[in-house]
Amino acid sequence: MASLPAPRLVLASGNAGKLAELRALLEGTGAVLVPQGELGVEDIEETGLTFVENALLKARHAARLTGLPALADDSGLCVDALDGAPGLYSARYAGGHGDSAANIARLLDELAGLPPARRTARFHAVIVLLRHADDPQPLIAEGAWAGTILDAPRGAGGFGYDPVFLDPEHGLSAAELEPALKNRISHRGKALAVLQSRLGGLDLAALAGTAAFHGEHA
Ligand code: IMP
Repeated sequence: MASLPAPRLVLASGNAGKLAELRALLEGTGAVLVPQGELGVEDIEETGLTFVENALLKARHAARLTGLPALADDSGLCVDALDGAPGLYSARYAGGHGDSAANIARLLDELAGLPPARRTARFHAVIVLLRHADDPQPLIAEGAWAGTILDAPRGAGGFGYDPVFLDPEHGLSAAELEPALKNRISHRGKALAVLQSRLGGLDLAALAGTAAFHGEHA
């Protein structure tokens, strides 16, 4: 009897770090995670006003163009003294997309002179799984990581705002934490754990229930 090919999911991102983390999450489910770029899908404009909306937009776009179930994540840094900014616009806070040094410089500038007690912040992540583009019941998992913003960068690891984000429990910036520890305690790690606990009870192939899920599209 011929066996079915492994069920495939498209990742609505080209970010290599996210791909590695999410592949680890899906280990044991038998599903194969394919980055959207490999299927010819380009990034969609993130026009939502919340992390949830943007994660859904990205997942729906990837699912629509590939015919596959889709995973997407959207994340950012919310600073209390700035009414939640940079928030959704974390990647492009200083203008250009993904210029971390400039983003950090702007953040430190905005918070200049504020004492530690008024520099509270949290990273937030939303991860979405859509079985198909018109799925009315997306699986949505969220995670947050609370800390404070340092007044100067510390550490060489991580990415984005990690050098200025102090984890109060360990007394280290996110860029000073071992990557495995960061992955366990971070917003994304927590959201992944929630999604994983929900996926644990699900048969991914049955969940999709479509021919496309078994590789007959794209
Ligand atoms: P995106 O979800 O990949 O668009 O990420 C949004 C932006 O939020 C990133 O470009 C970073 O600036 C910031 N960000 C999200 N997660 C982290 C993190 O774990 N460390 C540092 N910065 C992060």
